[in-house]
Amino acid sequence: MNEVYIGLGSNLQQPEQQIRQARSVIAEQDCIVELRFSSLYSSSPMGPQDQPDYVNAVMKIATSLSAIALLRVLQGIENQQGRVRKSEQWGARTLDLDLLLFADQQIKHPDLIVPHIGLSERAFVLYPLQEIAPKDLQIPCQGALEQLIAQCALNGLEKLVS
Ligand code: ADP
Ligand code: MG
Repeated sequence: MNEVYIGLGSNLQQPEQQIRQARSVIAEQDCIVELRFSSLYSSSPMGPQDQPDYVNAVMKIATSLSAIALLRVLQGIENQQGRVRKSEQWGARTLDLDLLLFADQQIKHPDLIVPHIGLSERAFVLYPLQEIAPKDLQIPCQGALEQLIAQCALNGLEKLVS
C-alpha cells in the first residue's frame, strides 16, 4: 500500500456537494482506504476570472493501485460527476481530482507528473495538505512542506465553516 494525497476542486453545480460526493466515491473504491480529509476551503480562480470561486480540499488515502491506475480511477470519477473537458486551461469545472503526491515517488509519464505541477505555488493545495500531512512532510525535489507554505501567499484562500 502507498500513501497518496489527492487534491479536490469544484466551482460548478453545488461545489461543496461535488466535493463530498467525490470523497465518498473515492473512499468506496476497491483498493482504496481513506486515511484523512481536510477542511473545505474557498479560493479565487486561477486563470480566467469570469468564473465562480472554487471549493478545495485534500484527501489522504492508502492504495494498492499503481499511480497510473489511480489517475484513471480519478478521471472516471470526474467524468461521472459531469466534468466536461474543454481546451481552455483552468476553466470552470464540476470536479477536478489531481494526484498531488504518490508516496515519495517522482513520476514523469506523458499523462502523469508527480508531484503535481504547481503544487508548490498553490495555496489551495498547500494549506489543506498541511492540515492533514505529517508536520515534517517532504515534497520530492521541492523540500519541506513547511518551507513551501512559508513562501506561498494565501491568495484569497479561506477555510469554510463546516
Ligand atoms: P488541471 O488540473 O491542470 O486544471 P486537468 O484536470 O484538465 O487540468 O488535467 C489535464 C491533464 O493533466 C490530464 O489529462 C492528466 O493526464 C494530466 N496530469 C498530469 N499530471 C497529473 C496529476 N498529477 N494529476 C492529475 N492529472 C495530471
Ligand atoms: Mg486536474
